[in-house]
Amino acid sequence: MSTSKVAVVTGGNKGIGLAIVKALCSKYNGDVFLTARNIDLGQEAVKKLEAEGLKVKFHQLDINDEESIKKLGTDLQASHGGIDVLVNNAGMAFKGADTTPFATQAKVTLQTNFIGTLNACKILMPIVKPGGRVVNVSSLLSKSTLQKCSGELQKIYRSDTITEEKLGSMMNEFIEAAQTDKHGALGYPNTAYGVSKLGVTVMTRIHAKLMREQGKNDILVNACCPGWVRTDMAGPKATKSPEEGAETPVYLALLPEGATEPHGQFVSEKKVQEW
Ligand code: NDP
Repeated sequence: MSTSKVAVVTGGNKGIGLAIVKALCSKYNGDVFLTARNIDLGQEAVKKLEAEGLKVKFHQLDINDEESIKKLGTDLQASHGGIDVLVNNAGMAFKGADTTPFATQAKVTLQTNFIGTLNACKILMPIVKPGGRVVNVSSLLSKSTLQKCSGELQKIYRSDTITEEKLGSMMNEFIEAAQTDKHGALGYPNTAYGVSKLGVTVMTRIHAKLMREQGKNDILVNACCPGWVRTDMAGPKATKSPEEGAETPVYLALLPEGATEPHGQFVSEKKVQEW
């Protein structure tokens, strides 16, 4: 078994994920795993980084496939005794002009961004080692979506006592309501992506609290917004390069040993935002 520390980035084959991998390769004192659901795309990205002189490892990971997540966990447990840094970056969004019905967009978007990320956390967080860092790439849209929810929903999503089960059932209620266009009546605005990221930020707050309840006092768990970044998702008009978009996630991934904060926060431009 390797004695090196190990960092893992989901959705690492392109965009912000690739830029996070690249930054970690030069700044992190340990092995860095680029993961991708598509092995060919993942290995192509690895070759690109290797051509730049960087050392990077690869593992397949589709966050919508529990077996794939379990395989990554089992392999990292065997090779490195667990995970030191986990960056949950993988995500998707329908384009604004996409005509796919909202019902489908809600199902598909929540499946990857919320359910897939939650499953990755459920399976991989138990093997995060002491001193570990977990970074969930959310979005400022999680906050603006929260502000557009009904007062009742806002109260629940801001509460310090909401559980993972309650959050999961509320996200499912949103998907169900969206099937018959009733999500508005439930108190939600018309954004599947925004609700999926609302779920990611609230999940982060819950997981941070769980770490403390489990006595894992030196593991720091945070959500962040990378900013508006020029990737396939956001398009060429966005204001930041992928490297600039990677800055806040990488800052959270590399919070120094012994740091006690931020923890359970939503961070943008390296600053804690009020939730
Ligand atoms: P991209 O579309 O460029 O990249 C998304 C990455 O996620 C790809 O590697 C993609 O793989 C991967 N992915 C999608 N679904 C899965 C899955 N089921 N399992 C594993 N990997 C998956 O997007 P960005 O780089 O822009 O986005 C990265 C993150 O940042 C996302 O979570 C996004 O929501 C968030 N974000 C982005 C912003 C922006 O302005 N770009 C703003 C705020 C947040 P594949 O190539 O196979 O599709």
